[in-house]
Parts: sequence; structure tokens; C-alpha cells
Amino acid sequence: MPEGDTIFRTARALGRALTGKPVTGFRSTYPLLTRFNDETPLVGQTVDRVESRGKWLLIHFSGGGTLATHMLMSGSWHIYRPGEPWQQPDVNMRIVIENSEYIAVGFRVPVARMHTEQSLARDRKIPRSVIDVLSAEFDAEAAALRISAHGGEEIGDVLMRQEVLAGVGNVFKSETCFVSGINPFCKVAALSREQVAALIAAARKLLAANVLEDSGDTIVTYGGRKRRTTHEADSSAGLWVYSRRGELCRRCGDPIRRRIQGPNARVTFWCKRCQPMPDGSDVDG
Ligand SMILES: [Zn+2]
Repeated sequence: MPEGDTIFRTARALGRALTGKPVTGFRSTYPLLTRFNDETPLVGQTVDRVESRGKWLLIHFSGGGTLATHMLMSGSWHIYRPGEPWQQPDVNMRIVIENSEYIAVGFRVPVARMHTEQSLARDRKIPRSVIDVLSAEFDAEAAALRISAHGGEEIGDVLMRQEVLAGVGNVFKSETCFVSGINPFCKVAALSREQVAALIAAARKLLAANVLEDSGDTIVTYGGRKRRTTHEADSSAGLWVYSRRGELCRRCGDPIRRRIQGPNARVTFWCKRCQPMPDGSDVDG
């Protein structure tokens, strides 16, 4: 599943192609979107703004409507010049937004809905900007309170809650815990305020480093940023722990552990020595 950094970069690219330009074409395979478009035609409106909120991508139109999409596992937005061949078959097309210069195509986007300003504010699934770690409006102190409210849960699970920290996915979960020196299986109640603050700062820093102009599609947390390479042999080459089970910790040389965590059974990677449990207990991986 794309994490917040991917959606952020997609929103930036779509924003550059669409913002401020009149829409010249709109179509969709989703009846709810076409019905909205029949009643309030998007052609002739302009795109005011494109933003990411966690894993949601929002396209705001000048008529007041907002198209909200979520990629889940399968979806992606592509940008083409008129006449340029698409990289996916037409049958995968779900949404097309055109202007005089570009065609934005949403392929296999599984979740798409049109919102008014009012219904967008009421949609509890779409996080507010202050919760999005990549937003300029992000409020770190409020985030610490949201994390602390889940005292009985393991921090690795809480970091994945999109209503707590929007944008952090499974890769950044493990990486954030590692760079903070915190065991992902540690209960939130056992963490100090400083540790919670450090986790939030690390999550922001790691995600922000992956939305720079020259960030590629591969998440990099270790060894600085890398240029995008066409044939990336090992997607974990730029990571501290994720997907590195049995490989040696880049800090201490111990083997990296892997364990299934939480109600959603997501994989978690960590180093036992660099990320000890505060009470000295042992978690096996
Ligand atoms: Zn280590």
C-alpha cells in the first residue's frame, strides 16, 4: 500500500498538471461520480488545489466540489500529454480529468467520492491536515496526546492508526521505531513524553526526506537519499530494518528480527539490541 510520501508526491505532480487550468474533460466508470458531474459539470471549472491527507488524495474544484480518492493496494494516478499512450489498459481506467495540456488518469482507484465542503468536513475517514505528518499544519503536541490516549496498545500498532498519525504506513512504522531506539512492541503507557515526541519527530523527518523533489519511488531512510534507479535490485538497500530479517543491523551488527504484529497482522522489523524493551523483557522474532 502506498504510504503518505507516495500520495504526497502524487498530489504534487497532479497539482502541477491540473491547478489553475480549466477542466476540458471529465469521465469516470463510477456512477456516483458521473451523476455528480451531470448535475454539476466539472468541465469549465478549474482545479483550485490538489492535496494529500495521509493516504487520501483530494482534488478541489472551483465549483466547490472535491474529488477524494484512496489508492488502497491497487490504485494509481498517471499524467499524460494528449495523444501519449497510457501505461495501463483502458479497462483499468476509473477516472479521467483533462485540461488543454494534460490528461490525468486514475487507474484502478478503488475508492472515489465527490464531496461538498460540508460533507468533506463530516467524512471521518479522511484525516484533517493537522493530523497529516507531511502537512505544514501538522500539530505535534496534539499528536502526542493522541498517541498517549492508546496507552494499552503497542506503539507499532498505534503509529499505523491513520486517525493518530496520518501518512505513516508499515515501512515507516518499523523505520521510525528503529531510528528512535524504541521497541515496536512496547506498550505506549511505558513510553516517556520525550520518547513519544522523538517518535513523532522521526516519523515527520523520515517521511519528509522521501518527498523531496529528487526522491524516487523507493523509500530511503538509511544512507541518505538516492537517485531513482531503473533496476533497483533490493528495495531494502536504503532502509534500516524493514524487509531485512536476518541481515545485520547497520548500527550494532545483530541480526534484524521480524514478527507479525497487531490486529491487522502486519509485519514489523526491529533490532533487539538497539531497541530494547524498557522493562528488559524479551520479544522474539
Ligand atoms: Zn542494532
